[in-house]
Amino acid sequence: MLKKNDIIPLEISEITGQGSGIGRADGMAVFIPHTAVGDKIEARILKVKKSYAFAKTETLLEPSPIRTEPDCKWSAKCGGCVFRHLSYEEELKIKQRRVFDALTRIGGLEDFIPHDIIGCDDPDGYRNKTQLPVGRDKNGDLLMGFYGSHSHRIVGNGDCRLQPDEFNILAKVVREWIEEFNISVYNEELHKGLLRHLYMRKGFSSGEIMVCLVANGDTLPHEKELINRLTSCNKNVKSIVLNINREKTNVILGKECRTIYGSDHITDKLCGLRFNISPLSFYQINHDQTEKLYGLAARYAGLSGKELLIDLYCGAGTIGLSMAKKAKKLIGVEIIPQAIENAKENAMLNDIDNAEFVCADASQAAKQLAERGTSPDVVVIDPPRKGCDNSVIEAIAVMSPKKIVYVSCDPETLARDLKIFDSLGYSVEDVTPVDMFPRTAHVETVVWMSGEE
Ligand code: SAH
Repeated sequence: MLKKNDIIPLEISEITGQGSGIGRADGMAVFIPHTAVGDKIEARILKVKKSYAFAKTETLLEPSPIRTEPDCKWSAKCGGCVFRHLSYEEELKIKQRRVFDALTRIGGLEDFIPHDIIGCDDPDGYRNKTQLPVGRDKNGDLLMGFYGSHSHRIVGNGDCRLQPDEFNILAKVVREWIEEFNISVYNEELHKGLLRHLYMRKGFSSGEIMVCLVANGDTLPHEKELINRLTSCNKNVKSIVLNINREKTNVILGKECRTIYGSDHITDKLCGLRFNISPLSFYQINHDQTEKLYGLAARYAGLSGKELLIDLYCGAGTIGLSMAKKAKKLIGVEIIPQAIENAKENAMLNDIDNAEFVCADASQAAKQLAERGTSPDVVVIDPPRKGCDNSVIEAIAVMSPKKIVYVSCDPETLARDLKIFDSLGYSVEDVTPVDMFPRTAHVETVVWMSGEE
């Protein structure tokens, strides 16, 4: 029987869609992160469950030929990149298989082959948003980086290959400001201290940058010095915001924001439209891949100008607005009030006057729209990772649109939901995975479903 701290030889024979290698020992599957199929390792067992175990690499005895040298020194500890030790081509194959496996095993789709995954031209430097937790280690040294996998241990110094260099440089400015003025930083366990996160956003098309400091308090000491340094370091810093989060919570952003420099939002261009983005609104992280994703969703929606289009989970309205000029009318639904405000502004900014935005829970809004006899031709849904509540799916089916376009950031919940849609008469016509988050475990999928004639 395997037990904790055993050291055993293992050969990695498979890799999960989330990037964990699997070796077999004692009739058990042993999961080891940061390994590649074909690696021969000595593994240290960390945890043993009934039929599987978790381990880490103690020694890499014989590296697999498909391994590449990770080009980030934090990658073995950081929770972000799970595929940095593999080539990008290898990563895309794994993601493609994950979508296929989810759709067939969970979704029950038979003989169904999704299109090839749409990969990124450059798998680095794509993130238009970063959130760096701030803390101190046991010796009181400043930490600002990323959480380690499955932990709240802060790893690294805020540099990251997935984000533009400008973020790396601005993070350094903030680090130096903290050190020089001895700014109090947050201690999660004690719920004490001021600065919790450094959060930055960039409009990749406009170049505009927002720097947001998340604090357990409503004022920043030496605020002027920080503003001067950030704005003289980078002329594209158009907005500096203090976000107030006094809660004892893992949620990064609090509800209240105070602009301390420039505008309360930045603007970006996406799919030929301009968008205002506030700190609290959702905005897709990878600009170029989003244009491909929305282009695909628009192709699946196949609008001719006569349709009523509903965009559920619409965020700042981006997907729906990118299609609005080809529809008769657009109704967008989103739960975050600031995002709905942005969506309304964004419609005006782009002279779109056939859009209506509703701030509500998707399930309640869908039920109300169905009760009112709303009869959309196309419904686009883009829920968070947990997928759609049953009640949303049922309400959509009651409205009986001809087409549903499901944009998903989690293949497993997508597959579960597709099965429910299938039982209500919606069958899958086409599926394309899109890699929005190279090097990480995430993969996006766009699905087109049509109702029974
Ligand atoms: N379609 C948008 C946003 C997708 S992210 C885009 O492409 O940018 C998912 C969105 O769902 C987020 O904006 C989140 O705030 C919203 N959301 C989460 N739970 C919701 C719910 N129960 N009802 C409505 N919107 C919800």
